[in-house]
Amino acid sequence: MLDDAARDLCAKGAALAVQGLARAGSGNISVRVEDGRILISPTGEGLGTMHPDALSILAPDGRHIGGPAPSKEWPLHLGVYAMRPDAGAVVHLHSPYATAWSMVEGLDPANCLPPLTPYSVMRLGCVALLPFAVPGDAVLGDWVCERAGDHSAFLLANHGPVVSARTLKDAVFAAEELEETARLALLLAAVPHRTLSDADITAINARYGDIYR
Ligand code: ZN
Repeated sequence: MLDDAARDLCAKGAALAVQGLARAGSGNISVRVEDGRILISPTGEGLGTMHPDALSILAPDGRHIGGPAPSKEWPLHLGVYAMRPDAGAVVHLHSPYATAWSMVEGLDPANCLPPLTPYSVMRLGCVALLPFAVPGDAVLGDWVCERAGDHSAFLLANHGPVVSARTLKDAVFAAEELEETARLALLLAAVPHRTLSDADITAINARYGDIYR
């Protein structure tokens, strides 16, 4: 079980790195296995060069119980798992378009990404914006804990996205969807454009709910 999860985590990390979404050793990803233990990328290791035998293992309460030291951003992951019992994976990136969007002035902290496409609505719901804090600061975990009950996707101001889903596959797709939606939002920022209406969003949610989250 742990071996399969470890291999999958490394493969998905490599796929994110190949897309240029985890440059300069940035980003961290984790999965929660059936017994509650959390496999997470180690500190100082790029997502594209992780090895299944060299991942960090955390107990459900966040204690480091195996492997190398975990990413310093592990409190973000633990906050999501604590508040979302169905969450099986968390992906945090410094992907360029989502990170650029986190710096836009005047965003709604409860819904910071415009509803541009159906899949962004399905995979992300309302994306919450968290204030800036120094990476690795425990306050980020506290803020995620406060809001993860209502949100599966976050943007950390001037830092990057954090997304979760029931499976690692869907968490990776959510991270990619957030990046693409932020790219569209930036492409469209200077021209008049249509966003999905409240009625559109209601219809999408009625049909698909939160099946991806
Ligand atoms: Zn980060």
